[in-house]
Amino acid sequence: MPMIPSYSRMTTLLFWCLLAASLLAMVLFEFGPERRLDILSQAGLSVRAQDDRAHKGSSVATLSQGGDRPAIQCTLRSQYAYPFCELVLTLTDPEQGLDLSGFTGVRVRLDVEGQGVQAWRLYLRNYDPVYSTREDESSHKFNEVLFTARDFGREQDVPLNVFAPSSWWVQQYDIPLVQQGPDLHHVYAIEIASDDKMLPGEYRLRLERLEFYGRWCKPGDFYRYLLLGWLVYGVLLFLVQNLMFGDRLRKAREARLAAEALSASLFEQNRRTEEEARYDPLTGALNRLGGEKLLGELGEMPLSFIYIDIDHFKGVNDGHGHPVGDEVLKHMVSELLRHCDSLCRLVRWGGEEFVLVCLHYDEGRAAALAERLRGALEGYRHWPLGLGITASFGVAERRKDSLEQALKRADEALYQAKQNGRNRVEVAPD
Ligand code: GH3
Ligand code: MG
Ligand code: MG
Repeated sequence: MPMIPSYSRMTTLLFWCLLAASLLAMVLFEFGPERRLDILSQAGLSVRAQDDRAHKGSSVATLSQGGDRPAIQCTLRSQYAYPFCELVLTLTDPEQGLDLSGFTGVRVRLDVEGQGVQAWRLYLRNYDPVYSTREDESSHKFNEVLFTARDFGREQDVPLNVFAPSSWWVQQYDIPLVQQGPDLHHVYAIEIASDDKMLPGEYRLRLERLEFYGRWCKPGDFYRYLLLGWLVYGVLLFLVQNLMFGDRLRKAREARLAAEALSASLFEQNRRTEEEARYDPLTGALNRLGGEKLLGELGEMPLSFIYIDIDHFKGVNDGHGHPVGDEVLKHMVSELLRHCDSLCRLVRWGGEEFVLVCLHYDEGRAAALAERLRGALEGYRHWPLGLGITASFGVAERRKDSLEQALKRADEALYQAKQNGRNRVEVAPD
């Protein structure tokens, strides 16, 4: 699977790149330079003065000459019901407009001179076919804030969300509620008009600064794109992992399962081989190895040994052949086991010698069992070739001595049985 490590290196690298880019973008977005739009240095900006003479009034507004900032000279006269002078900055055609909705606010400085108390309205004019008509210039939305005496002569940061459509415009064009909020998506002109409560007189208005400021994109959009980037990364990761590498991973899983199954079967085979190694293949009794292991597991358990040896077995082999001798051994084991209970374990200790390990048997009980076994063999009617087979028995109870010593005493008792004429049971003396 050489692809997996390189794939995981690639996704890790991509993760760190994405994380670094995200952090950098967030720091720049939160603390980086703000986006600015200086209206007064806009190419194609046209500046003009407007007054109420078109409404049969007699106020006169003229652009002030000289100076690099737009300014008007205003003679306000009360002939018209709502006399006004106005400075108009046209940015584009009404249908085109600029989208200023992404800005946070506008930085404005208005300087005024004149006789009485002054108030000037700042309009951001927005075109939208929903309420605008081409022929009627007044139908374009008047997003408005009002500058009063305390606001002149210094820079003011005006948040864009405080602009609201003029109430007279809402009434005149019967604007529904949903369209009565500020709308700055197609701003085509910025106007500064005298408030209709200003008294007749001579006034001067100068626009020192008009600059929009804000972030490079809306916070909602920025964090939405950031989240989208991580989502795309997550989906890609998922797809690559599950579709492209799913097959390889499945095969690897299968190989692992197969290896585990093989190792389990080897373990089982090993266990069975070990088990088999403890038994004698000819008779099915425990062999010497199995017997020794059994003795190793017994600890301090009370028990008795019955040492058994076939009488004149060499004669059987010599007289009838080794295979007949083998058959005698098999009959012998099955006949012994037939008379033993579950506390007894029969071990073929070597050749035609057997040791019966009788757990929780005292000497008397073991001797009685040995006697029964002896009689059973003597009376057995199915020996091969109708032979008459007997065996001698040596019994020893394990007392304070070790297992080896107890076994040795049983062997000595057996020897004694042979000495005393065979086909007998002898109990080891204390
Ligand atoms: P005793 O009464 O004194 O025990 O006389 P014995 O002839 O039985 O003497 P001993 O116990 O020394 O004889 C053991 C014989 O058992 C020797 C060997 O030929 C025979 N023998 C040992 N293992 C096997 C076996 O697996 N198969 C056969 N057929 N004979 C075996
Ligand atoms: Mg022997
Ligand atoms: Mg013998």
